Amino acid sequence: MARGEVAPYLLGLRLDGRRVLVVGGGRVAQRRVPALLEAGAAITLVSPSVTPALDDLIADGRIVWERRPYRVGDCDGAWIVHTCTSKRDVNTAVAAEAEAKRIWCVRADDKDASAAWTPASGRVDEIGVAVTAGGDPRRAAGIRDAVVAALRDGTVDARRHRTKPVGVALVGAGPGDPGLITVRGRQLLAQADVVVADRLIPRGLLGELPADVELIDAAKVPYGRALPQDKINEVLIDRARQGRFVVRLKGGDPFVFGRGGEEMIACAEAGIPVIVVPGVTSAVAVPAVAGVPVTHRGVSQEFHVISVHVAPEHPKSTVDWEGLAKTGGTLVLLMAVERITEIAGSLVRYGLSPETPVMVVQDGTLPTQRAIAATLTTVAERVTEAGIRPPAIVIVGDVVRVGQEIEMVRAERVP
Ligand code: SAH
Repeated sequence: MARGEVAPYLLGLRLDGRRVLVVGGGRVAQRRVPALLEAGAAITLVSPSVTPALDDLIADGRIVWERRPYRVGDCDGAWIVHTCTSKRDVNTAVAAEAEAKRIWCVRADDKDASAAWTPASGRVDEIGVAVTAGGDPRRAAGIRDAVVAALRDGTVDARRHRTKPVGVALVGAGPGDPGLITVRGRQLLAQADVVVADRLIPRGLLGELPADVELIDAAKVPYGRALPQDKINEVLIDRARQGRFVVRLKGGDPFVFGRGGEEMIACAEAGIPVIVVPGVTSAVAVPAVAGVPVTHRGVSQEFHVISVHVAPEHPKSTVDWEGLAKTGGTLVLLMAVERITEIAGSLVRYGLSPETPVMVVQDGTLPTQRAIAATLTTVAERVTEAGIRPPAIVIVGDVVRVGQEIEMVRAERVP
């Protein structure tokens, strides 16, 4: 049909409160309805039966269901009609009625006979993306995905074209692999005027920043020369007061041994708005990429995450090591490698078996990731032999053995 060869005219319909008729209650209707609802359409659905997902929307009162087959006259009062039944003759009849009444009708079963096409669409904040590709829905969806992804990660310059957030965003950058920051984190990073980054931030993320972004290294080398926390708070507040949008990038999750709370308090006291974007914490992610599940049915129903920046017997330690040794749960120890001898000694003294399996993972999720497996008796020696250095995570408990079993099966069966 010649009509199919002419490019369609794309339009943004403001459906708020307007009646839309959907004929059919199957999977196609289920795919179409959410976007219509999001646009505020008042949907009437005509179909003898509906999918469970549509049924939920009906039960919630979000769409009106006429539980019966289509009949002539159903199109009356509608601004748009979607006909998505599995019966060709029904779709043809609906389309004919709509055409006669000059109502736009989208039919899902025959693009050439359809008066209108639904584009593959997506949304990133206030940006709407709609793509048609000559009636090839897969191609359109692929292009839509690429545009949406580029808008999200800032490849299509988000800084200049969006309403910029204000204040400070406290963003978790994930454990190291630049692919493990969240989508929201990447969006905000692409909009930043100032980025204040920790030592463990993936270099890959910072390398993408435009040249005019002020990058401040908040590196706090342990025991070394330091930019104290107060100074970091000062910088955040100072830049935000200049009207610049500040992204405070932190390793893992900002609130897991990350002083995120302190920075939030400081900003709040200064009257600066703060957006919090959680991150993938190394406490869970690093064991995972080393093949160790922190919980496992029948093995461990709890895991404890502990900062061991001070050794167990140190007067400043507030950790109940005796209690931990009794839980039987998985222990995930951060900032622990330098004190591994004291830690292993204390856990055995408080009753854990010297044979308890231990794994130490350095540089988790990074190309330089490496791990050693040991027991509480041998771990200190193995760490020294292997030259394991921070950042590293120590995992204590039987889940380490589960990880090893998983690895054995994989090595045998997975090509
Ligand atoms: N907020 C961070 C933790 C900061 S404390 C988070 O949620 O992950 C810093 C400690 O985290 C390091 O000493 C180390 O124990 C651990 N760590 C962080 N990234 C790591 C990585 N990629 N591999 C191993 N350990 C890591």
